[in-house]
Amino acid sequence: MSLSGGPLRVLPLGGLGEIGKNMTVVEYEDRIVLVDVGLRFPTAEMMGIDLVLPDFAYLRGRVSDIEAIVVTHGHEDHLGCLPFLLRELGVDDAPPVYGGPLTMAMARSKLDEHKLARDVHVEDVKDGEIIECGPFDVELIHMTHSIPDASAVALKSELGTILVTGDYKFDQTPVDGRPADVSRLAELGREGLLLLCGDSTNGDRPGFAPSEKVAGPNLRDVFSRCKGRIVVTSFASNIHRVQQVVDAAAALDRKIVLVGRSMRKNTNIGRTLGHIELPEGIVIGPREMSDYPDHRLVVISTGSQGEPLSALRRMAHRDHPQVELHSGDTVVFSATPIPGNERAVNETIDRLYHIGCDVITTKDAPIHASGHGYQEEIKLMLNLTRPRYLMPVHGDHKRIRLHAEMAEALGIAAEDIFRGDNGLPLEIDSDGARFGERQRSGMFFVDGIELGDPTESAMRDRRALSADGIMFVVATVSADEGNTVADHEIVLRGVPIAAEEGAFLAEVREAIEDSLDRAADDDVHAVELIEKILHDDLAEFVYKRLRRRPMILPVVVEV
Ligand SMILES: [Zn+2]
Ligand SMILES: [Zn+2]
Repeated sequence: MSLSGGPLRVLPLGGLGEIGKNMTVVEYEDRIVLVDVGLRFPTAEMMGIDLVLPDFAYLRGRVSDIEAIVVTHGHEDHLGCLPFLLRELGVDDAPPVYGGPLTMAMARSKLDEHKLARDVHVEDVKDGEIIECGPFDVELIHMTHSIPDASAVALKSELGTILVTGDYKFDQTPVDGRPADVSRLAELGREGLLLLCGDSTNGDRPGFAPSEKVAGPNLRDVFSRCKGRIVVTSFASNIHRVQQVVDAAAALDRKIVLVGRSMRKNTNIGRTLGHIELPEGIVIGPREMSDYPDHRLVVISTGSQGEPLSALRRMAHRDHPQVELHSGDTVVFSATPIPGNERAVNETIDRLYHIGCDVITTKDAPIHASGHGYQEEIKLMLNLTRPRYLMPVHGDHKRIRLHAEMAEALGIAAEDIFRGDNGLPLEIDSDGARFGERQRSGMFFVDGIELGDPTESAMRDRRALSADGIMFVVATVSADEGNTVADHEIVLRGVPIAAEEGAFLAEVREAIEDSLDRAADDDVHAVELIEKILHDDLAEFVYKRLRRRPMILPVVVEV
C-alpha cells in the first residue's frame, strides 16, 4: 500500500505507550527514512516467547521506498530487530543502515549472526556529516546516554526539520569527556525546528539525572568492603560502566574476569573502538580464576535483568560451567530492572541468597545512574530546540502526558503538542499538523505467534492455535548425564503437517536429540534452561520444516 505524496508523515510503529521496540517511519513524498529498529523483551505473561518485534505491516511491499535506516544507538530497543526486519522485507533491495561507529559495529555483529552482513550496506556516520536520503538530509548529533556513541537524528526536508532525540541525558561529566552537543541543538532551535520527538522515559523524575561518573567511586566503596570474590552485573552495552568497574577493581588490585557472551563481545568492540581501556594484564580467563584468592577477583557478568540463559542466572542456578558461587561471594547489581523484568531479577537474587552470597543492589548504594534525563533535562531539550510541534515518544502513556504538560508549562501551545500512539501518524503540511488515519501496528512475536493488538491477544491466540496448533514435547533425560533415557513423547494438536506424520515425528525426535546434545555440550543442566533451549530449537526446526509457528511446550523430566 502506498499513500500518495502529500504531507510529511511521522509514524511511530513502536515505543509509545510501552517501554521498548522503538521504530519511527519518517515519510515524505512516498520516500521513507526509518529511525531506529528496536525490539522488546517479553513479559512473564508472554510465556514461551523470545522477542517482541514491532509489526512491520506498514512497510511490507515498500522496501524500495525506504531510503535508509538510521539508528540512534546500540541498545536492543533501538537496534535489536534490524536483522528480523531486513529478513522480512527481503535483503535484495535492502536500504543502507547508518549510525555512529559503535552502533554500526553492533549492527554488523547482529547481521553477521543472521548471515545477512554481506547483503546490507552498513555505514559509520560522523557527527555533523550530512547523509542524503531522498528528500531528507540526515544528520547525527552527539548525545550522552548509557552507551557510547548515542545520537539524536535531525531530518531536514523542504517542509522543515524533525529532530528525534533518541535516548539521552545531559551528562555534564561523562566518563569519556564528551558531553552532548548542546550548541548544535540550540542552533537547530534558532534555525527553526518543525517537530521534536523527545525521549519521555524519566518524565516522572524531578531534577537532573546523576552523572554516570557517580557510579565509579560508589562501586569502589562497595568493593572495598567486600572480603571475598565480587561478581558485578550490568548491561553489557554500558561500556562506560564496565570501565568504571575495571577502574575500581584495578584500584583494589583485583583481576577481572569477563563472563557471558555479550559481555565479552561488547567489551571487545568497545576496546577496538577506543571506548574502554583495560590496564595491561588485568583481564584473566575464567580458567585462571583458581590461580587467585577470592579477594583478588572481580567477575563482570551478564544477567542484570534476570535473563533466562544469562551467565548470572546460570550461576544462581548453580549451572554455570566456569563460575561456581559460594558463601562469601558478593553479587553487585549495577543496574535496575527494566519494567517487566522485576520478577526474574528478584528470583535470581533470592537464589543467590540461598547459595549464601551477599547481594548489593541500587537500593543499597548509588551504583547505577539512569541513561535517561530527568524532568529538568527534558525541559532543557525543549528550551534549546524550541520546536513548532512536539510529539513525546519513548515512554508509557503516563510519561508521555507528563512530558506534554512540561512543554505546556514552558509555553508550547497545547494544540501543538501531539500525544501519539503506535500506528498513529502525525501529518504536517503548510496548513499545520494533525493526526492522520491510523495504520496497522502491534507486536510480532519471534518463535511464537503473530499478534496484532495485545488487547485482542486471547482471541488471536485462539486463532493462531487454530491455524498452527500446539506441540507438546516430553523429553526424559538422566539427571547425571543429561542424555536421553526414554523415548520422547510428542503430542501434536492441530499442527498441519504436509508430510506423513510418522516421518515427521521421527524428524522431531532427531531435532530433540540434537538440541539435548547441544545443551549437554554447553554444560547446561538446569531443567528450566534445557526446556528453554528445546523450545527455541524446536520452534526453529518446525518453522523451517513446516513454515508454521505452533505453540511449543517442552517439558523435561529428569530420572
Ligand atoms: Zn531506549
Ligand atoms: Zn537506550
